[in-house]
Amino acid sequence: TVRVRLAPSPTGTLHIGTARTAVFNWLFARHEGGQFILRIEDTDEERSKSEFTDNILAGLKWLGMEWDEGPFFQSQRLDLYRQAIQTLLDKGLAYRAYDTPDELDAMRETQKARGHAPRYDNRHRDLTPDQQAAFEAEGRPAVIRFKIDDSRTITWNDMVRGPVTWQASDLGGDMVVARASSATNIGQPLYNLAVVVDDIDMAITHVIRGEDHIANTAKQILLYEALEAAVPAFAHAPLILNQTGQKLSKRDGVTSISDFQKMGFVAPALVNYMTLLGWSAPDATEQFTLAEAAKQFSFDRVNKAGAKFDWDKLDWLNSQYLHAMEPTPLLELTLPYLQDAYAIDAEADRGWLLPLVTLLGPSLTRLTDVVEQSRFFFTETVEFADDAKAQVQLDGVSPVLEGILTGLTEKSPATIDELKALVDEVTKAQGVKKGLVMKSMRAALMGALQGPDLMESWLILRQRGFDVPRLQGAIA
Ligand code: GLU
Repeated sequence: TVRVRLAPSPTGTLHIGTARTAVFNWLFARHEGGQFILRIEDTDEERSKSEFTDNILAGLKWLGMEWDEGPFFQSQRLDLYRQAIQTLLDKGLAYRAYDTPDELDAMRETQKARGHAPRYDNRHRDLTPDQQAAFEAEGRPAVIRFKIDDSRTITWNDMVRGPVTWQASDLGGDMVVARASSATNIGQPLYNLAVVVDDIDMAITHVIRGEDHIANTAKQILLYEALEAAVPAFAHAPLILNQTGQKLSKRDGVTSISDFQKMGFVAPALVNYMTLLGWSAPDATEQFTLAEAAKQFSFDRVNKAGAKFDWDKLDWLNSQYLHAMEPTPLLELTLPYLQDAYAIDAEADRGWLLPLVTLLGPSLTRLTDVVEQSRFFFTETVEFADDAKAQVQLDGVSPVLEGILTGLTEKSPATIDELKALVDEVTKAQGVKKGLVMKSMRAALMGALQGPDLMESWLILRQRGFDVPRLQGAIA
Protein backbone atom coordinates (compact mmCIF):
# COMPACT_ATOMS: atom_id res chain seq x y z
CA THR A 1 0.00 0.00 0.00
CA VAL A 2 0.96 3.60 -0.52
CA ARG A 3 2.78 5.22 2.38
CA VAL A 4 3.77 8.88 2.25
CA ARG A 5 5.14 11.26 4.81
CA LEU A 6 5.50 14.90 5.70
CA ALA A 7 8.85 15.64 7.31
CA PRO A 8 8.90 19.21 8.58
CA SER A 9 11.87 20.64 10.44
CA PRO A 10 10.75 22.53 13.55
CA THR A 11 13.08 25.44 12.87
CA GLY A 12 10.20 27.81 12.16
CA THR A 13 6.42 28.01 12.10
CA LEU A 14 4.40 25.96 9.60
CA HIS A 15 5.28 27.55 6.27
CA ILE A 16 2.84 27.76 3.38
CA GLY A 17 5.25 25.71 1.24
CA THR A 18 5.41 22.90 3.80
CA ALA A 19 1.66 23.06 4.25
CA ARG A 20 1.12 22.76 0.49
CA THR A 21 3.47 19.75 0.51
CA ALA A 22 1.31 18.34 3.31
CA VAL A 23 -1.80 18.85 1.20
CA PHE A 24 -0.31 17.01 -1.79
CA ASN A 25 0.84 14.14 0.43
CA TRP A 26 -2.52 13.95 2.14
CA LEU A 27 -4.50 14.06 -1.11
CA PHE A 28 -2.32 11.40 -2.69
CA ALA A 29 -2.59 9.15 0.37
CA ARG A 30 -6.37 9.51 0.46
CA HIS A 31 -6.68 9.01 -3.28
CA GLU A 32 -4.66 5.81 -3.08
CA GLY A 33 -6.21 4.59 0.14
CA GLY A 34 -2.75 4.77 1.71
CA GLN A 35 -1.18 6.12 4.89
CA PHE A 36 0.06 9.61 5.68
CA ILE A 37 2.86 9.70 8.21
CA LEU A 38 4.15 12.70 10.14
CA ARG A 39 7.81 12.91 11.07
CA ILE A 40 9.41 15.84 12.84
CA GLU A 41 12.99 16.34 11.65
CA ASP A 42 14.50 17.82 14.77
CA THR A 43 18.08 16.57 14.56
CA ASP A 44 19.37 20.15 14.43
CA GLU A 45 19.38 20.74 18.17
CA GLU A 46 20.25 24.40 18.01
CA ARG A 47 17.61 25.49 15.55
CA SER A 48 14.79 23.12 16.51
CA LYS A 49 12.29 24.46 19.04
CA SER A 50 9.35 22.74 20.66
CA GLU A 51 7.13 25.79 20.14
CA PHE A 52 7.69 25.39 16.40
CA THR A 53 6.71 21.73 16.66
CA ASP A 54 3.54 22.80 18.48
CA ASN A 55 2.81 25.39 15.81
CA ILE A 56 3.31 22.84 13.02
CA LEU A 57 1.10 20.20 14.65
CA ALA A 58 -1.63 22.75 15.43
CA GLY A 59 -1.49 24.16 11.90
CA LEU A 60 -1.78 20.74 10.26
CA LYS A 61 -4.72 19.84 12.48
CA TRP A 62 -6.40 23.16 11.77
CA LEU A 63 -6.04 22.55 8.04
CA GLY A 64 -7.52 19.08 8.39
CA MET A 65 -4.29 17.30 7.46
CA GLU A 66 -4.80 14.51 9.96
CA TRP A 67 -1.97 12.00 9.92
CA ASP A 68 -2.35 8.25 10.28
CA GLU A 69 0.93 7.57 12.08
CA GLY A 70 3.22 9.70 14.20
CA PRO A 71 4.37 12.24 14.91
CA PHE A 72 7.75 10.55 15.03
CA PHE A 73 10.71 12.58 16.22
CA GLN A 74 14.10 12.12 14.65
CA SER A 75 15.77 13.22 17.88
CA GLN A 76 14.48 9.98 19.43
CA ARG A 77 15.81 7.81 16.63
CA LEU A 78 19.49 8.74 16.56
CA ASP A 79 20.64 5.19 17.31
CA LEU A 80 18.97 3.95 14.16
CA TYR A 81 20.89 6.49 12.09
CA ARG A 82 24.16 5.63 13.82
CA GLN A 83 23.61 1.94 13.07
CA ALA A 84 23.16 2.75 9.40
CA ILE A 85 26.29 4.88 9.41
CA GLN A 86 28.17 2.03 11.07
CA THR A 87 26.94 -0.28 8.31
CA LEU A 88 28.29 2.14 5.70
CA LEU A 89 31.63 2.31 7.55
CA ASP A 90 31.80 -1.48 7.84
CA LYS A 91 31.16 -1.88 4.13
CA GLY A 92 33.89 0.62 3.32
CA LEU A 93 31.30 2.99 1.83
CA ALA A 94 31.99 5.73 4.34
CA TYR A 95 35.01 7.02 6.21
CA ARG A 96 36.17 9.49 8.82
CA ALA A 97 37.58 12.79 7.55
CA TYR A 98 39.58 15.12 9.76
CA ASP A 99 39.82 18.31 7.72
CA THR A 100 39.70 21.50 9.75
CA PRO A 101 37.40 24.35 8.68
CA ASP A 102 40.50 26.35 7.70
CA GLU A 103 41.79 23.55 5.53
CA LEU A 104 38.42 23.22 3.82
CA ASP A 105 38.29 26.96 3.21
CA ALA A 106 41.75 26.93 1.70
CA MET A 107 40.77 24.01 -0.53
CA ARG A 108 37.72 25.89 -1.83
CA GLU A 109 39.71 29.07 -2.39
CA THR A 110 42.19 27.19 -4.55
CA GLN A 111 39.36 25.61 -6.52
CA LYS A 112 37.69 28.97 -7.06
CA ALA A 113 40.99 30.54 -8.12
CA ARG A 114 41.26 27.84 -10.78
CA GLY A 115 37.74 28.54 -11.94
CA HIS A 116 36.26 25.34 -10.51
CA ALA A 117 33.10 25.00 -8.46
CA PRO A 118 33.95 24.35 -4.82
CA ARG A 119 33.64 20.71 -3.79
CA TYR A 120 35.22 18.34 -1.30
CA ASP A 121 38.15 16.74 -3.10
CA ASN A 122 37.87 13.51 -1.12
CA ARG A 123 41.36 14.02 0.29
CA HIS A 124 40.76 11.92 3.42
CA ARG A 125 39.09 9.05 1.59
CA ASP A 126 42.08 6.74 1.91
CA LEU A 127 43.86 7.73 5.09
CA THR A 128 46.23 5.11 6.43
CA PRO A 129 45.65 3.93 10.02
CA ASP A 130 48.75 5.90 11.00
CA GLN A 131 47.49 9.13 9.45
CA GLN A 132 44.17 8.67 11.16
CA ALA A 133 45.82 7.99 14.52
CA ALA A 134 47.90 11.14 14.10
CA PHE A 135 44.82 13.30 13.51
CA GLU A 136 43.13 11.72 16.51
CA ALA A 137 46.19 12.40 18.62
CA GLU A 138 45.98 16.04 17.56
CA GLY A 139 42.47 16.05 18.98
CA ARG A 140 40.83 16.85 15.65
CA PRO A 141 37.12 16.02 15.48
CA ALA A 142 36.02 13.91 12.52
CA VAL A 143 33.05 14.04 10.21
CA ILE A 144 31.83 10.89 8.54
CA ARG A 145 31.67 11.10 4.78
CA PHE A 146 29.76 8.84 2.43
CA LYS A 147 31.71 8.02 -0.73
CA ILE A 148 30.21 9.39 -3.91
CA ASP A 149 31.35 7.71 -7.10
CA ASP A 150 31.82 10.65 -9.45
CA SER A 151 31.42 8.46 -12.52
CA ARG A 152 27.83 7.67 -11.67
CA THR A 153 24.78 9.07 -13.40
CA ILE A 154 21.70 9.12 -11.21
CA THR A 155 18.27 9.01 -12.80
CA TRP A 156 14.73 8.71 -11.58
CA ASN A 157 11.31 9.08 -13.10
CA ASP A 158 9.81 11.97 -11.20
CA MET A 159 6.04 11.85 -10.83
CA VAL A 160 5.89 15.57 -11.59
CA ARG A 161 8.96 16.30 -13.68
CA GLY A 162 9.35 13.09 -15.66
CA PRO A 163 12.86 11.64 -16.14
CA VAL A 164 15.48 13.50 -14.11
CA THR A 165 19.20 12.95 -14.52
CA TRP A 166 22.01 14.03 -12.22
CA GLN A 167 25.74 13.55 -12.56
CA ALA A 168 27.21 12.35 -9.28
CA SER A 169 30.18 14.63 -10.02
CA ASP A 170 27.83 17.59 -9.47
CA LEU A 171 27.03 16.56 -5.91
CA GLY A 172 30.02 18.26 -4.30
CA GLY A 173 32.21 15.28 -3.47
CA ASP A 174 31.94 12.74 -0.67
CA MET A 175 29.06 13.85 1.50
CA VAL A 176 28.99 14.38 5.24
CA VAL A 177 26.52 12.07 6.97
CA ALA A 178 27.57 12.75 10.57
CA ARG A 179 29.36 15.54 12.39
CA ALA A 180 31.33 15.74 15.63
CA SER A 181 32.64 12.20 15.48
CA SER A 182 35.86 10.47 16.50
CA ALA A 183 37.60 7.18 15.82
CA THR A 184 35.42 5.52 18.41
CA ASN A 185 32.08 7.28 18.07
CA ILE A 186 29.58 8.54 15.56
CA GLY A 187 28.43 12.07 16.30
CA GLN A 188 25.40 13.95 15.07
CA PRO A 189 23.77 12.27 12.03
CA LEU A 190 22.75 14.69 9.28
CA TYR A 191 19.66 15.32 7.21
CA ASN A 192 20.18 13.24 4.06
CA LEU A 193 21.19 10.14 5.97
CA ALA A 194 18.46 10.42 8.59
CA VAL A 195 15.78 10.95 5.95
CA VAL A 196 16.79 7.87 4.00
CA VAL A 197 17.04 5.67 7.09
CA ASP A 198 13.60 6.82 8.22
CA ASP A 199 12.00 6.52 4.82
CA ILE A 200 13.32 2.95 4.62
CA ASP A 201 12.29 2.11 8.18
CA MET A 202 8.83 3.63 7.75
CA ALA A 203 8.37 1.82 4.42
CA ILE A 204 7.68 5.04 2.56
CA THR A 205 6.66 4.27 -1.02
CA HIS A 206 6.40 7.83 -2.41
CA VAL A 207 8.49 10.80 -1.34
CA ILE A 208 6.55 13.96 -2.12
CA ARG A 209 8.29 17.24 -1.35
CA GLY A 210 9.30 20.61 -2.72
CA GLU A 211 11.43 21.13 -5.78
CA ASP A 212 14.19 22.60 -3.62
CA HIS A 213 15.03 19.02 -2.59
CA ILE A 214 15.95 17.74 -6.07
CA ALA A 215 19.70 17.66 -5.43
CA ASN A 216 19.04 15.88 -2.13
CA THR A 217 17.08 13.24 -4.00
CA ALA A 218 20.11 12.45 -6.14
CA LYS A 219 22.26 12.02 -3.02
CA GLN A 220 19.59 10.03 -1.24
CA ILE A 221 19.23 7.56 -4.11
CA LEU A 222 22.92 6.73 -3.67
CA LEU A 223 22.29 6.12 0.03
CA TYR A 224 19.34 3.81 -0.69
CA GLU A 225 21.60 1.78 -2.94
CA ALA A 226 24.38 1.68 -0.35
CA LEU A 227 21.92 0.53 2.29
CA GLU A 228 20.53 -2.04 -0.16
CA ALA A 229 17.01 -0.75 0.09
CA ALA A 230 14.34 -0.24 -2.58
CA VAL A 231 14.26 3.31 -3.89
CA PRO A 232 10.83 4.94 -3.47
CA ALA A 233 9.07 7.00 -6.13
CA PHE A 234 9.68 10.75 -6.01
CA ALA A 235 7.44 13.72 -6.73
CA HIS A 236 8.88 17.22 -6.57
CA ALA A 237 6.17 19.82 -6.27
CA PRO A 238 6.74 23.21 -7.88
CA LEU A 239 7.83 26.14 -5.78
CA ILE A 240 5.39 28.78 -4.65
CA LEU A 241 6.31 32.13 -6.18
CA ASN A 242 5.51 35.70 -5.27
CA GLN A 243 4.07 38.24 -7.70
CA THR A 244 7.48 39.01 -9.18
CA GLY A 245 8.15 35.33 -9.84
CA GLN A 246 10.61 34.72 -7.04
CA LYS A 247 10.36 32.00 -4.44
CA LEU A 248 7.86 33.13 -1.80
CA SER A 249 9.83 34.02 1.31
CA LYS A 250 9.50 35.73 4.64
CA ARG A 251 10.20 39.01 2.87
CA ASP A 252 6.86 38.70 1.13
CA GLY A 253 5.14 39.18 4.46
CA VAL A 254 2.80 36.45 5.48
CA THR A 255 4.08 32.93 4.93
CA SER A 256 3.12 30.95 7.98
CA ILE A 257 -0.18 29.19 8.35
CA SER A 258 -0.86 30.68 11.77
CA ASP A 259 -0.62 34.15 10.19
CA PHE A 260 -3.16 33.26 7.52
CA GLN A 261 -5.39 32.04 10.32
CA LYS A 262 -5.03 35.31 12.23
CA MET A 263 -5.79 37.27 9.07
CA GLY A 264 -9.23 35.73 8.93
CA PHE A 265 -8.86 32.97 6.38
CA VAL A 266 -10.82 29.81 7.12
CA ALA A 267 -9.16 26.41 6.88
CA PRO A 268 -11.31 24.90 4.10
CA ALA A 269 -10.66 27.95 1.89
CA LEU A 270 -6.93 27.99 2.56
CA VAL A 271 -6.60 24.26 1.95
CA ASN A 272 -8.68 24.60 -1.21
CA TYR A 273 -6.40 27.41 -2.36
CA MET A 274 -3.21 25.51 -1.54
CA THR A 275 -4.45 22.56 -3.59
CA LEU A 276 -4.58 24.91 -6.57
CA LEU A 277 -0.97 25.96 -6.05
CA GLY A 278 0.39 23.65 -8.72
CA TRP A 279 -2.58 21.33 -9.27
CA SER A 280 -5.80 21.74 -11.20
CA ALA A 281 -8.87 19.54 -11.21
CA PRO A 282 -9.63 17.59 -14.42
CA ASP A 283 -13.01 19.30 -14.64
CA ALA A 284 -11.38 22.72 -14.00
CA THR A 285 -13.47 23.41 -10.89
CA GLU A 286 -11.71 25.69 -8.47
CA GLN A 287 -13.85 25.26 -5.43
CA PHE A 288 -13.93 21.87 -3.76
CA THR A 289 -13.66 20.11 -0.45
CA LEU A 290 -10.60 18.05 0.46
CA ALA A 291 -12.58 14.87 -0.06
CA GLU A 292 -13.63 15.95 -3.56
CA ALA A 293 -10.06 16.94 -4.43
CA ALA A 294 -8.76 13.61 -3.08
CA LYS A 295 -11.07 11.74 -5.44
CA GLN A 296 -9.57 13.48 -8.45
CA PHE A 297 -6.00 14.03 -7.33
CA SER A 298 -3.05 12.73 -9.30
CA PHE A 299 0.45 13.95 -10.04
CA ASP A 300 -0.31 13.95 -13.77
CA ARG A 301 -2.03 17.26 -13.20
CA VAL A 302 0.68 18.85 -11.05
CA ASN A 303 2.63 21.51 -12.94
CA LYS A 304 6.38 21.67 -13.28
CA ALA A 305 6.35 25.45 -13.40
CA GLY A 306 6.30 27.45 -10.19
CA ALA A 307 2.90 28.44 -8.82
CA LYS A 308 2.25 32.15 -8.33
CA PHE A 309 0.63 33.08 -5.08
CA ASP A 310 -2.56 34.96 -5.87
CA TRP A 311 -4.11 36.87 -2.96
CA ASP A 312 -7.19 37.79 -4.99
CA LYS A 313 -8.00 34.17 -5.66
CA LEU A 314 -7.46 33.24 -2.02
CA ASP A 315 -9.75 36.10 -0.98
CA TRP A 316 -12.34 35.03 -3.50
CA LEU A 317 -12.30 31.45 -2.24
CA ASN A 318 -12.44 32.60 1.36
CA SER A 319 -15.46 34.77 0.66
CA GLN A 320 -17.19 31.84 -1.06
CA TYR A 321 -16.76 29.73 2.05
CA LEU A 322 -17.89 32.52 4.37
CA HIS A 323 -20.95 33.30 2.27
CA ALA A 324 -22.03 29.67 2.33
CA MET A 325 -21.63 29.30 6.07
CA GLU A 326 -24.50 28.81 8.52
CA PRO A 327 -24.91 31.60 11.11
CA THR A 328 -23.99 29.53 14.16
CA PRO A 329 -20.57 28.32 12.95
CA LEU A 330 -19.94 31.75 11.43
CA LEU A 331 -20.58 33.33 14.81
CA GLU A 332 -18.17 30.87 16.44
CA LEU A 333 -15.48 31.88 13.95
CA THR A 334 -16.07 35.64 14.05
CA LEU A 335 -16.62 35.92 17.80
CA PRO A 336 -12.91 36.00 18.73
CA TYR A 337 -12.36 38.97 16.38
CA LEU A 338 -15.45 40.75 17.72
CA GLN A 339 -14.45 40.12 21.32
CA ASP A 340 -11.02 41.46 20.55
CA ALA A 341 -12.45 44.71 19.23
CA TYR A 342 -15.55 45.28 21.37
CA ALA A 343 -16.85 44.57 24.85
CA ILE A 344 -19.07 41.56 24.31
CA ASP A 345 -20.73 39.08 26.58
CA ALA A 346 -20.91 36.10 24.23
CA GLU A 347 -23.87 34.55 26.04
CA ALA A 348 -25.94 37.63 26.80
CA ASP A 349 -25.35 39.18 23.38
CA ARG A 350 -26.05 36.05 21.37
CA GLY A 351 -29.61 37.18 20.70
CA TRP A 352 -28.48 40.00 18.44
CA LEU A 353 -25.04 38.69 17.43
CA LEU A 354 -26.54 35.77 15.55
CA PRO A 355 -28.75 37.99 13.37
CA LEU A 356 -25.78 40.33 13.02
CA VAL A 357 -23.46 37.70 11.50
CA THR A 358 -26.36 36.40 9.40
CA LEU A 359 -26.68 39.91 8.05
CA LEU A 360 -22.96 40.50 7.47
CA GLY A 361 -21.94 37.01 6.33
CA PRO A 362 -22.61 37.65 2.63
CA SER A 363 -20.36 40.72 2.60
CA LEU A 364 -17.35 39.25 4.39
CA THR A 365 -14.16 38.39 2.51
CA ARG A 366 -12.08 37.61 5.57
CA LEU A 367 -13.33 36.93 9.08
CA THR A 368 -11.53 40.09 10.22
CA ASP A 369 -13.85 42.19 8.02
CA VAL A 370 -16.56 41.62 10.59
CA VAL A 371 -14.90 44.16 12.89
CA GLU A 372 -15.26 47.18 10.59
CA GLN A 373 -18.54 46.13 9.09
CA SER A 374 -20.20 45.72 12.47
CA ARG A 375 -18.75 48.83 14.11
CA PHE A 376 -21.95 50.87 14.05
CA PHE A 377 -23.88 48.14 15.87
CA PHE A 378 -21.71 48.57 18.93
CA THR A 379 -22.26 52.25 19.69
CA GLU A 380 -25.43 53.95 20.81
CA THR A 381 -24.81 56.92 18.53
CA VAL A 382 -23.14 57.11 15.18
CA GLU A 383 -20.97 59.61 13.34
CA PHE A 384 -22.50 60.98 10.17
CA ALA A 385 -20.74 60.81 6.86
CA ASP A 386 -21.18 64.06 4.90
CA ASP A 387 -23.69 62.65 2.44
CA ALA A 388 -25.72 61.06 5.23
CA LYS A 389 -25.75 64.32 7.17
CA ALA A 390 -26.97 66.13 4.04
CA GLN A 391 -29.69 63.53 3.59
CA VAL A 392 -31.18 63.96 7.07
CA GLN A 393 -31.04 67.75 6.64
CA LEU A 394 -33.02 67.72 3.40
CA ASP A 395 -36.29 69.62 3.40
CA GLY A 396 -39.13 67.47 4.59
CA VAL A 397 -36.96 64.75 6.15
CA SER A 398 -37.26 65.93 9.75
CA PRO A 399 -41.03 65.39 9.89
CA VAL A 400 -40.56 61.93 8.40
CA LEU A 401 -38.05 60.92 11.07
CA GLU A 402 -40.25 62.44 13.77
CA GLY A 403 -43.18 60.47 12.43
CA ILE A 404 -41.15 57.28 12.69
CA LEU A 405 -40.01 58.20 16.21
CA THR A 406 -43.57 58.74 17.34
CA GLY A 407 -44.61 55.44 15.79
CA LEU A 408 -41.78 53.64 17.53
CA THR A 409 -42.87 54.90 20.94
CA GLU A 410 -46.55 54.34 20.36
CA LYS A 411 -46.46 50.95 18.65
CA SER A 412 -43.25 49.34 19.85
CA PRO A 413 -42.69 47.40 16.61
CA ALA A 414 -40.58 44.30 17.25
CA THR A 415 -40.43 42.48 13.91
CA ILE A 416 -39.37 43.41 10.43
CA ASP A 417 -42.98 43.28 9.26
CA GLU A 418 -44.02 45.69 11.99
CA LEU A 419 -41.17 48.05 11.10
CA LYS A 420 -42.19 47.89 7.44
CA ALA A 421 -45.79 48.68 8.37
CA LEU A 422 -44.59 51.73 10.27
CA VAL A 423 -42.57 52.94 7.28
CA ASP A 424 -45.61 52.52 5.01
CA GLU A 425 -47.83 54.36 7.42
CA VAL A 426 -45.52 57.37 7.72
CA THR A 427 -44.95 57.41 3.95
CA LYS A 428 -48.68 57.60 3.35
CA ALA A 429 -49.48 60.03 6.12
CA GLN A 430 -46.88 62.52 4.95
CA GLY A 431 -47.43 62.04 1.25
CA VAL A 432 -43.73 61.46 0.51
CA LYS A 433 -41.97 58.89 -1.63
CA LYS A 434 -41.06 55.64 0.09
CA GLY A 435 -37.55 55.90 -1.31
CA LEU A 436 -37.04 59.15 0.57
CA VAL A 437 -38.14 57.54 3.82
CA MET A 438 -35.89 54.54 3.37
CA LYS A 439 -32.86 56.57 2.37
CA SER A 440 -33.37 58.97 5.26
CA MET A 441 -33.83 56.14 7.73
CA ARG A 442 -30.64 54.55 6.50
CA ALA A 443 -28.77 57.84 6.88
CA ALA A 444 -30.23 58.42 10.34
CA LEU A 445 -29.61 54.90 11.67
CA MET A 446 -26.28 54.12 10.05
CA GLY A 447 -24.79 57.55 9.48
CA ALA A 448 -24.07 56.40 5.92
CA LEU A 449 -25.92 55.92 2.67
CA GLN A 450 -24.43 52.50 2.07
CA GLY A 451 -24.39 49.43 4.26
CA PRO A 452 -26.12 46.16 5.03
CA ASP A 453 -29.84 45.56 4.60
CA LEU A 454 -31.75 48.44 6.21
CA MET A 455 -34.63 46.59 7.83
CA GLU A 456 -32.46 43.79 9.21
CA SER A 457 -29.99 46.32 10.58
CA TRP A 458 -32.78 48.38 12.06
CA LEU A 459 -34.20 45.38 13.87
CA ILE A 460 -30.83 44.62 15.42
CA LEU A 461 -30.33 48.26 16.44
CA ARG A 462 -33.84 48.19 17.87
CA GLN A 463 -33.05 45.07 19.92
CA ARG A 464 -30.07 46.98 21.26
CA GLY A 465 -32.19 50.08 21.99
CA PHE A 466 -30.08 52.20 19.66
CA ASP A 467 -32.62 53.22 17.01
CA VAL A 468 -34.46 55.82 19.07
CA PRO A 469 -31.34 57.71 20.24
CA ARG A 470 -29.97 57.68 16.70
CA LEU A 471 -33.17 59.11 15.22
CA GLN A 472 -33.18 61.76 17.93
CA GLY A 473 -29.55 62.55 17.10
CA ALA A 474 -30.41 62.88 13.42
CA ILE A 475 -33.23 65.31 14.06
CA ALA A 476 -31.36 67.46 16.57
N1 GLU B 1 13.04 18.32 6.84
C1 GLU B 1 12.98 18.57 5.42
C2 GLU B 1 12.32 19.90 5.17
O1 GLU B 1 11.66 20.41 6.05
C3 GLU B 1 12.20 17.45 4.80
C4 GLU B 1 12.39 17.25 3.39
C5 GLU B 1 11.83 15.92 2.96
O2 GLU B 1 10.61 15.85 2.83
O3 GLU B 1 12.61 14.99 2.81
O4 GLU B 1 12.50 20.50 4.15
